[in-house]
Amino acid sequence: MTTVLAGVLAGVLAVAGTAAPASATLPDPRPGGDPIPARTWAPSQDPAAPTVLVNKARPLSPTSWAPDDLVRPDVRALGEHDRLRPDAARALERLAADARDATGHELVLASGYRSVEYQARLYARYVDGHGRRDADTFSARPGHSEHQTGLAADVAEAGTPYTDLGSTETGRWVASQAWRYGFVVRYPEGQEAVTGYSPEPWHLRYVGTELATGMHLAGTATLEEAFGVGPAPDYPAR
Ligand SMILES: [Zn+2]
Repeated sequence: MTTVLAGVLAGVLAVAGTAAPASATLPDPRPGGDPIPARTWAPSQDPAAPTVLVNKARPLSPTSWAPDDLVRPDVRALGEHDRLRPDAARALERLAADARDATGHELVLASGYRSVEYQARLYARYVDGHGRRDADTFSARPGHSEHQTGLAADVAEAGTPYTDLGSTETGRWVASQAWRYGFVVRYPEGQEAVTGYSPEPWHLRYVGTELATGMHLAGTATLEEAFGVGPAPDYPAR
């Protein structure tokens, strides 16, 4: 890491650790708007690590892995999948509180942790309805879903479908501010060939503030790019 980036990061993280609303206290640290050169981070093999990489090329290991420390964040949930890992839950609570302060809208949790068994049923249902090829563009196969880590949250603006998040005030706020809370918008527009998924403005992945801030400063769009592992548009041929 360069000294400049380290200094900026240290400053950002120091401020982000205070209790004040991050959106009100944190300036955008990019000097002159120039992106800082990207650095490569190391993905973790540990499914419990916030830097674990899960995509079509890299299933969870083991594929049946389940977290043992799930909690319910103090954020209104829309369904039964209302739990997250503790750090992701606390970060989502702060994100939702600041989103409400900034936009006046309530941010709700549409889907958090999903077990491998549930993901298998969900994916099978999508394949039945849309065919495998289409289903693979918007639903992960079991063992390949970030929701199985307990670090992913599909969020919505209260009163609107989560799939509409991108066109809501909450969605615009989330897109520009999520990094401050340690989240990345995991499947951005224009990155389909890298992530293998259609854009999902609602799918937030908790990676921790260090990586999320580093990616924001560098203008890095995907975890594949941040980790320097190459695109994962498809599942390996069997
Ligand atoms: Zn999702």
